[in-house]
Amino acid sequence: SSQAQEFRRLNRVKVTGDAPLPVTSFQDLRKWNLDSKLTRNLAKFGFEKPTAIQSESIPILLENHDLLACAPTGSGKTLAFVTPILQQLINLKIKTENSEYTGPTALIVSPTRELANQIYEVAAQLSKGTAIQVALLNKKQITKLRNNNAGNKQKMDIIISTPMRLVEGVKEDLYSLGSVQYMVLDEADKLLGDEFVHQTDEILTFCTNSHIVKAIFSATMPSNVEELAHTVMTAQPCRVIVGHKE
Ligand code: ADP
Ligand code: MG
Repeated sequence: SSQAQEFRRLNRVKVTGDAPLPVTSFQDLRKWNLDSKLTRNLAKFGFEKPTAIQSESIPILLENHDLLACAPTGSGKTLAFVTPILQQLINLKIKTENSEYTGPTALIVSPTRELANQIYEVAAQLSKGTAIQVALLNKKQITKLRNNNAGNKQKMDIIISTPMRLVEGVKEDLYSLGSVQYMVLDEADKLLGDEFVHQTDEILTFCTNSHIVKAIFSATMPSNVEELAHTVMTAQPCRVIVGHKE
């Protein structure tokens, strides 16, 4: 629509692929039946309106498209993926009510512990009052998992982790990633860069579900990173670039 075109022009957003229209307010998310707890928790953050990357990414992920997103540091990328993923997990929980816990459904990978921590804080606040269990894989959580026997399984709907810790936990058989349906690579320029690409690949091989929705977020998207990103996604991801990609 021309309104969307105007929004994208004003916010310097380039969108390609089969993307829904951007939302211009958090209220617009009613269209996807945003859970009342999420609506309330979003309001508690006190943000007037979604940032450009949130306006574009939230509908895309609510509609289960793969996403390649690039937006500057400080532009609100965390809520851009945490919001739709929490809603999707709530939708899945409703569908599979009464069925047994079969493992984590979403995975958010971040290159550093500090960033993983920040994502966790946002996800914990936004999920308050919902049934979604958000887990940060830190030392304490790993110890908890080690001490748990099979009969007392620690439920983790979303795992937030650095690559190293995530891989170690799989190898120790503390959890498996075969049940993951949503995967986010945050700071993907780093996760697909020399230091982490091997571990990132390993994580992808652990995520054996073939219908997994993937989202790749980054502040920069150099062409070599974008090429790698395309090799891990479906043929036609939605692609959102806010500002300049490098
Ligand atoms: P990025 O990951 O893109 O660097 P963050 O997700 O860390 O950005 O968010 C940067 C800051 O913007 C945080 O302090 C966050 O609370 C704030 N923020 C997020 N969404 C909004 C919004 N819709 N309106 C105003 N501020 C926001
Ligand atoms: Mg960030």
